[in-house]
Amino acid sequence: MGGLDFVLQGKKKALVSWLRTQGIDDENVLNAFGVVDRHRFIENSLFWHNAYENTPVPIACGQTMSQPLTVAFQSQLLNICKKDKVLEIGTGSGYQAAILAAMGAMVYSIERQIELFRKTRILLKDTLGITNVNLFYGDGFKGLPDEAPFDKIIVTCGAPEVPTSLLAQLKVGGIIVIPVGDGVQEMKRITKVSDDEYHQESFGEFKFVPMLESMVKGNRGSF
Ligand code: SAH
Repeated sequence: MGGLDFVLQGKKKALVSWLRTQGIDDENVLNAFGVVDRHRFIENSLFWHNAYENTPVPIACGQTMSQPLTVAFQSQLLNICKKDKVLEIGTGSGYQAAILAAMGAMVYSIERQIELFRKTRILLKDTLGITNVNLFYGDGFKGLPDEAPFDKIIVTCGAPEVPTSLLAQLKVGGIIVIPVGDGVQEMKRITKVSDDEYHQESFGEFKFVPMLESMVKGNRGSF
């Protein structure tokens, strides 16, 4: 292990310990944070020293990778079981998708920015060799009807409202975790109790980049 790597691995361990002090107690989440190297998702190595601090990091296309506590918090709200089929809206850097994959989920993730879609596909598949993530270029508002239903859905951008198309793509008993609102978002967890009944909980305010309409018609570009 090189000097830099040694330092970063130490910071990663410290981050996991810190997350425990912040109410993250799902061992599957904590284990994934210990396994996945967040600095690998940051293109500019000048930012690597920040990778294990609780800060968002800029990525391509003016987007940001959420801060670790937000990623951990959303992952914990999802209550992931091994082999869960999980839809993510907003692939971005791929870090959240890699965390869910390390937790044993089968991840389907949609990104509306072609540059991010392409870069992250290379990173996750070719560089990191992660097999249980499927990436799609398209519109998260539409979800992935061909792959539905999902056990869990996670939205990693601020949604103006809860898209009914996404609720329709949840299994009965399934959960969607979604930040809702303009500017500042309320974190919501909605459980699909039956085909037309939902149980909703709120978990405080967060700030995400906005969920925007897609530039493409329909969803394509899976691999
Ligand atoms: N989960 C990402 C977070 C990236 S920020 C990570 O771990 O890095 C949120 C992402 O949502 C951005 O990349 C943005 O381009 C994307 N996004 C916004 N609106 C979208 C939509 N309608 N469909 C798909 N992706 C969307």
